[in-house]
Amino acid sequence: AGLSVLALTSIGTGSAAALGTHANTASANGAAYTAGAPGSGDPYFPYDGNGGYDVLHYDLALRYAPPTDPTALVGKLNGVATITLRAKQNLQSLNFDLRGLDVTSVRVDGKAETHGKSADKGSAEWSQTQDDANRYWELTVGLLPKLREGQLTTITIEYGGSTGRPLDTTGALYGWVTTADGAMVVNEPDGASTWYPVNDDPQDKATYSFHITVPAGKTAIANGLADGRPRTKAGWTTWSWEATDPMSSYLATATVGDFTLTNDKGPHGLPIVNAIDSGVTGAGLAETKAALALQAQMIAFLEGQFGRYPFEAFGAIVDDDSVDYALETQTRPVYSQVADEATVVHELGHQWFGDSVTPSDWKDIWLNEGWATYIEWLWAEHQGTATIPAQFADAVSYLDANNGWTLNIADPGRDELFSAPVYLRGAAALQALREKVGDKAFFAGARLWLNRYKGSTATTADFQAVMEKTSGQSLTTFFNEWLRQNVRPAMPQLQAGPS
Ligand code: ZN
Repeated sequence: AGLSVLALTSIGTGSAAALGTHANTASANGAAYTAGAPGSGDPYFPYDGNGGYDVLHYDLALRYAPPTDPTALVGKLNGVATITLRAKQNLQSLNFDLRGLDVTSVRVDGKAETHGKSADKGSAEWSQTQDDANRYWELTVGLLPKLREGQLTTITIEYGGSTGRPLDTTGALYGWVTTADGAMVVNEPDGASTWYPVNDDPQDKATYSFHITVPAGKTAIANGLADGRPRTKAGWTTWSWEATDPMSSYLATATVGDFTLTNDKGPHGLPIVNAIDSGVTGAGLAETKAALALQAQMIAFLEGQFGRYPFEAFGAIVDDDSVDYALETQTRPVYSQVADEATVVHELGHQWFGDSVTPSDWKDIWLNEGWATYIEWLWAEHQGTATIPAQFADAVSYLDANNGWTLNIADPGRDELFSAPVYLRGAAALQALREKVGDKAFFAGARLWLNRYKGSTATTADFQAVMEKTSGQSLTTFFNEWLRQNVRPAMPQLQAGPS
């Protein structure tokens, strides 16, 4: 079975809400059955995520052959995704995001569908569209019988193809990044669809099971905890991982390579599972080992500041490929070539700020990166290597010298999501807030935020509301000055020492 590439004359960017919702006269309880929208409404990524349903669980059985020619960096991936979901409206079809891989079969509650063109009209057919120019990569699954609001269904999708080195909109590597010895898998913001059919909307958190089959001798590491020992048969080894904490799709990983796994324990018996690639050597390996040895202490320190670590496990995956950044993949961040101390505490901080409480929309990214950077500052102060005022002053100097105050970090734009001001102006704003409301209201606000939105998503307005509640102050002007206005705000009086 092949890929169906349809002409997409009617599709332009920004019209996601209107697309795919062809009204249909069929109805139950008065509500029409419609096609689920091909996007979930994020203004930066109009076709990411999909409308009309909520995924409860992804079971991903992957079989991956890493490159045979280490200079070509092309692998072969085959997957069977079994997706359990609940309809949020009456549906005649629904979409998944899937980029650059060919679907070969679709079953809905065990019933095989045919490959056709009328999937969106409600039939037992599926179809696939790959439109790179519009970033429109959709699998449409017709539903017959149609799905009533509230109904559960299980959709099984077989797919596969060649893997390469996908790029995000800024030209950075992400998604299923094929490496010489395997794959380094880092999805943020929308790379998940390069390796599995997904409702790629951070708001749709789900649990995951991974069964990753790789040539014997390779190691595959995903989120959560190992489900038994790896099993080898006929030269292939299957690694199973269970991630039982609900997770946004940008935080999933299934990294493959020549890794050595080690097990450690954090506070209250928290399992720590680390994986270091055999290609990480010399000074980089020494620095990585020293930083990973601090993880248990870092967790204990952050639990003292922000309350209990939110997930079932932690650990690190340190790949030898030069993807150039680290990612806070849930329970198990991925690092490129080296895991240094500041980055390790940054990615650990994201487990509370980003992974447990996730931005509702990508424009709220400063809530992730501002907090993770501020947590680097807290840790450095705790370790006695740099005071908060000194780190704040460095950030302000950087922003002054690099035209950094012109970016509205509460809506930075799609291609500025990970630019330096999002991190540094974000962290500076948090320190200024702490100065304004005092330590007590600041840390109480952080804990209220984490408790209220644990396992869910929230916005900058939600964050402001929480801080207004614990401080009793109106913060509208403050947040406008520190996040949005295009000039440097008036500086606070800096006096904070260790809390
Ligand atoms: Zn970060």
